Amino acid sequence: MFFEKLTKLYCKLCPRECNIDRNRYAGLCKTKNTLEIASYNLHFGEEPPISGKNGSGTIFFAGCNLSCIYCQNFPISQLKSAFKVISEEELADIMIQLQSKGAHNINLVTPSHFIHLICKSIDLAKEKGLTIPIAYNTSSYDKPEVIEYLSNYIDIYMADLKYTDNNISKKLSGIDDYFDIATKAILAMHKTKGSLKTQNGIATKGLIIRHLVLPNLIDNTKQALKWIVDNLPDTPISLMFQYFPAYKAFNDSTINRKVNYEEYLEIIDFMNGLNLKGFIQEFNHEYCN
Ligand code: SF4
Repeated sequence: MFFEKLTKLYCKLCPRECNIDRNRYAGLCKTKNTLEIASYNLHFGEEPPISGKNGSGTIFFAGCNLSCIYCQNFPISQLKSAFKVISEEELADIMIQLQSKGAHNINLVTPSHFIHLICKSIDLAKEKGLTIPIAYNTSSYDKPEVIEYLSNYIDIYMADLKYTDNNISKKLSGIDDYFDIATKAILAMHKTKGSLKTQNGIATKGLIIRHLVLPNLIDNTKQALKWIVDNLPDTPISLMFQYFPAYKAFNDSTINRKVNYEEYLEIIDFMNGLNLKGFIQEFNHEYCN
């Protein structure tokens, strides 16, 4: 019922509000009204409380409601070079399969544009015995009212805070209101689930905020860290330095290189002054040009 008003006839499921009939046409997310997945597996590269010892049961959805010119998953999100159309029942079975393999959680990667269908799968999977937490791994370009509705479906939020400057989001991701939308969505996630909670070192519920550091945009990172400490000081952050130019980033003089060691040190120094908690990816000199 809740999703009907956002998807029936004209799609307004996410903040892009394409207003198109997704039964007939693909929206800006490049998808229609059927589930499309690129892959699913146990993933060991997430933050320690998410991957744990057994892995995170990760499901990669095709398409995306952003159009990031540097997307490191661009074959899946932007080009949709390989994907499979599946039913809600099949997605529920995949969730059960991942749980049987020992996954600590179901990790929905880029789910925003399919969430109305994914909720049906979660209901079906729960009827079949799904008990592990469900994680929503998102760019945070989500409607706050959708996040509030998801309270009964989602346990863990792995939420990006990509930009604090809407001019940068326009240039790099094709949207001119990212900061306004994403911060409202993140506050809604925190309101419904609180900050990340663990049991025996494994996440059970709550919010973790992720930020990928981009070259030449160190002030953007500092502002993102500052926003978190000012607004959600109890929430752990995951700071990532693995950026490499991909997709169309080679043509952009701001982001056509990796983050360098001086930038890394400047951010660590700034972060230490803020007393934030969380996970900082170690700098690997192979990341550096
Ligand atoms: S989910 Fe896709 S079609 Fe619907 S509003 Fe968002 S981008 Fe447009």
